[in-house]
Amino acid sequence: MECAEAREHLADLNRGQLGADLTQAVRGHVEQCASCRGALEADAEIRTLVRAQVPRYSAPPALRARIEGLIGRPTRGERAAWWRWLRLHPWPVGAVAGAACVLLLVWAGNLWMVRDPVSLLAAQAVAEHVEYTKEVKTRPAPDPVALLRELRPQVDFPFEPVFQGDPQVQLVAALVGELSGKRAATFIYRDTAGRYTTLFLMPGAGVVVPEGERMPIETFKPHYRAASGRSLLLWKHRDLAWLLVSDLDKTEVPAMYLKVRKAANPPSAFLPSGIS
Ligand SMILES: [Zn+2]
Repeated sequence: MECAEAREHLADLNRGQLGADLTQAVRGHVEQCASCRGALEADAEIRTLVRAQVPRYSAPPALRARIEGLIGRPTRGERAAWWRWLRLHPWPVGAVAGAACVLLLVWAGNLWMVRDPVSLLAAQAVAEHVEYTKEVKTRPAPDPVALLRELRPQVDFPFEPVFQGDPQVQLVAALVGELSGKRAATFIYRDTAGRYTTLFLMPGAGVVVPEGERMPIETFKPHYRAASGRSLLLWKHRDLAWLLVSDLDKTEVPAMYLKVRKAANPPSAFLPSGIS
């Protein structure tokens, strides 16, 4: 196996999502290739970091600002140059201290995941989903209208209309979360069987919905992927990126998607032009 092929599978290897043959092939390559071994370890480290940072919503932006101050906000051209440089010098981070080191790792991670920009977002979203559902498990479902009223002033973009629950699925929490350094209006739903779905809503600029792996649901085609045993759906609507992480499996998640997607359509009388 060549480096390029091995790199494509590193994230899935860390998640245990490769078949036995592929696992063996990738492991075989990584054992002989220091560069890919480094990349594999960095991916594992990013996943650990993302998990560790989940409850501290204020930390990541501050840390980010610090690292951006240190290295300068990269433009597209610079990213390409850094990428080339990082490929030639796979471990520049050893000499860099503390937060800078951590953020460079995450950043380098973003670079090599450039072919699959959703991986980091997905890993982070799943980690947050797991944390939230632990937290709300014992909570009775409050009044959805009150939840939205409290959330509204905390978010600087319009997120309504949004699914407020129905007899099968209750809205149990609405809060400000964070994904990839962006504030996200976050909604946690619980169905009658006690399974959870978390919906993240954030400004759509800069969020890429991959062309591949689309799931046809009625007339819609959101991006679908499975990550750490959860279903993820990503789509754009009303200038927002919508990311749904659910305990529901591939066969059940479309019904939940439709509830969310259809509730998000403003009444046709108020439909601004240009929205399909
Ligand atoms: Zn290699």
